[in-house]
Amino acid sequence: MLVHVKNALTQLEAKGRYRSLTLPCGVDLSSNDYLGMAGHPALREAAIAYFEDQKAGDVGAGGSRLLRGHTRAHQELEAYAAEVFGAERTLFFATGFQANYAILTTLPVRGDVVLYDEHVHASTRDGLVASRAKSFKFRHNDMNALEDLLKRQREKAQNIWVCAESVYSMDGDQAPLSELYDLAERYDAMLIIDEAHATGVLGEGGRGLAYDAIIKNHGYDRLVTLHTCGKAMAIAGAIICARDDIIEYMINTSRPFIFSTAPMPVQAVLVHKSLGIILSTEGGGRRQSLVKLCRYTQQLLGDGAGHGGHIVPLILGEDAFAVEVAGRLQKHGFDIRAIRPPTVPEGTARLRLSLSAKLKRQNIEEFASVYKSAISK
Ligand code: PMP
Repeated sequence: MLVHVKNALTQLEAKGRYRSLTLPCGVDLSSNDYLGMAGHPALREAAIAYFEDQKAGDVGAGGSRLLRGHTRAHQELEAYAAEVFGAERTLFFATGFQANYAILTTLPVRGDVVLYDEHVHASTRDGLVASRAKSFKFRHNDMNALEDLLKRQREKAQNIWVCAESVYSMDGDQAPLSELYDLAERYDAMLIIDEAHATGVLGEGGRGLAYDAIIKNHGYDRLVTLHTCGKAMAIAGAIICARDDIIEYMINTSRPFIFSTAPMPVQAVLVHKSLGIILSTEGGGRRQSLVKLCRYTQQLLGDGAGHGGHIVPLILGEDAFAVEVAGRLQKHGFDIRAIRPPTVPEGTARLRLSLSAKLKRQNIEEFASVYKSAISK
């Protein structure tokens, strides 16, 4: 019985890919708390205020959104998010994984085709595995490859959906959003942009990159965006922004939405509060500090280290080497983890340095010095 369980664990160990859960320890260089808001006093206070006021609502939602789980907190967050992101409607989910899975299992149907960048997140891929639509991947950020696929599929497909991320989670590079939109328009396709690593950090007021590149001029006619709330927003969950008919359709047919308990109302209250901070002068200040820190990091680590953004891939190659270097850095008080396949392609095991507005220049100076000696040993 369960021979595969034992075998899988033995093989992972042999390949240096065994993972285990470790508690946070040392200077945070690995979370996605890009704006340093996870311990924000205003967020703690909003949680306390919610729980202290019996009339604000219950602790748990008590049911799915279509049953009794839809509360004023969810409704108010969705209305506010629509205003912020310039969308007709929005829909809040408990996690980004669930939201992406919901998008891909609900919107593209049998007879449709989905074209996706090879670097999109596991939640999009898993949604595609469960989807009835056919899907094809294109080379990362290669617009010629995408156009070839669009040409080939246009006559065959009922609807075409193109999936990309505005900032890619493991390399920190950006998608050419304007070109993606032009292609979508030319070939009459819908565009799905995952803004997980851009929301809060990039674009006007931290609205993400699609806001400037697409939404200001074209709205959401042929666009769906996903804004996760567990990274720069420092809470948890995700907001899907889209046309009114798409959101209505998801409410009526999306199984991950219909058959799952609603997020705790306080989660919606906190995301609402966090979005407000992100748009405020304070949020702008946090973004500026982060930009300065990104520039400084690039200066210290050299041009080979990423794309100058808040996600800095330090590619080391072999899995075992990445684990070893991470271990040395951890011993010096830095919380940084080795990222190995299947999360990243074979031979590109790395440290993913995740920058945050809460870090000091001194943290980066110390990190750079220990890192340089750790890789040269
Ligand atoms: N999309 C991307 C690009 C991500 O990086 C992640 C999380 N790492 C998700 C979606 C899933 O979001 P969540 O963590 O809220 O489930």
